[in-house]
Amino acid sequence: MTEKTPTEVITWKALEYAAGRRSSAELETYLRAFIAFCRTQGWHDLAALHHLLMADDDVLRGAMRTGQLPPGFAPEIATLWTTFHRLWPAQVDLTEREPSGRRRPFQDGEWVVLVDRKGRSYLTRLEPGKNFTFHLGAVAMDAIIGQREGVAVRTTRGESLLVFRPTLRDYLLHMPRHAQVVYPKDSAIMAMWGDLFPGARVLESGLGSGALAMVILRMIGPDGVLVSYEIRKDFIRRAQRNITRWLGTLPDNHKIYNEDIQQARVEPESFDRVFLDLPTPTVGLAPATAALRPGGILVSLSPTVPQVQQTVEWLRASHLYACIEVIEVLLRPWNIRGHSVRPAHRMVAHTAFIVVARRILPGQQFVDDTYI
Ligand code: SAH
Repeated sequence: MTEKTPTEVITWKALEYAAGRRSSAELETYLRAFIAFCRTQGWHDLAALHHLLMADDDVLRGAMRTGQLPPGFAPEIATLWTTFHRLWPAQVDLTEREPSGRRRPFQDGEWVVLVDRKGRSYLTRLEPGKNFTFHLGAVAMDAIIGQREGVAVRTTRGESLLVFRPTLRDYLLHMPRHAQVVYPKDSAIMAMWGDLFPGARVLESGLGSGALAMVILRMIGPDGVLVSYEIRKDFIRRAQRNITRWLGTLPDNHKIYNEDIQQARVEPESFDRVFLDLPTPTVGLAPATAALRPGGILVSLSPTVPQVQQTVEWLRASHLYACIEVIEVLLRPWNIRGHSVRPAHRMVAHTAFIVVARRILPGQQFVDDTYI
């Protein structure tokens, strides 16, 4: 049996492995993308590519900056390297290949989030000819329009700002808030504990600024239904503005009633999930329970202990719930910089308590020992 020559054992996987042995994450990412590019170009000479990947970090890092490989590599590889350098990151408009267009450049009218070097973020809308001004200088919005996400721009005071499309969390923390909103740290847990799923039918009260409603809408998707009861008309208008600014439109699967939840006329057992965020949660419990199907889940959020206590007592006395859980989400950010690896100095100490319970069939012989 003859021994395999090294050329025969080189595979694409081996090339990726070679790229993964780099000391810098930036170089590794670049090389991996270059390998993928060579593959799309139908490159077959893996040995030549392997030879390139065996070069020193410094040589490759220099070539990554200039787009030119030093002499000594196959000329075809050098040409590919230069072509790839022009395309990285791809400057082409990708909208056609990607219906959602998420890789497309920023356009005027879009919301963006600007992040400074301390991690502070600012939400703004791109308008041609306008500036974004804050305490670290100003940036012309024209310098952002046409760029791609992840770009860094300079302010008039020489500070740099990163530009992204806002996440839902960014948006919820920056949007105009009037009633106390549900914070992302709580809505994240409420979504999981409340087991929101695509297509779920969800009842909510009150709507407030619409922060929780936006999280629910995202989780239930276009096939789900969200019904919100809110007594204050001015809050409804504001919530609708907030939702429209985020989604571009008011979704058809969100029905809002300007009514007291106590007067809600809902078909019995017609909802999979109920979310309550009310100053007096107990007023919403009876209508919510009638609306919730057995097996459905109720999630109620309250900032104070008496509210929680009344809620739990009501749920237990109803004999229509089990698996009652009361939780509090303490989210502690950490600082990781050099030797300073420790919790951050500040955290949000209190927002609210979350009560979760599961609706059961009436008349069941069941003792809930959870809190005894
Ligand atoms: N979850 C919302 C905030 C809700 S604040 C958010 O994330 O933005 C509580 C809301 O309940 C207020 O807007 C208040 O007007 C409304 N509300 C109070 N009592 C109500 C009742 N009985 N029926 C319906 N809505 C009520």
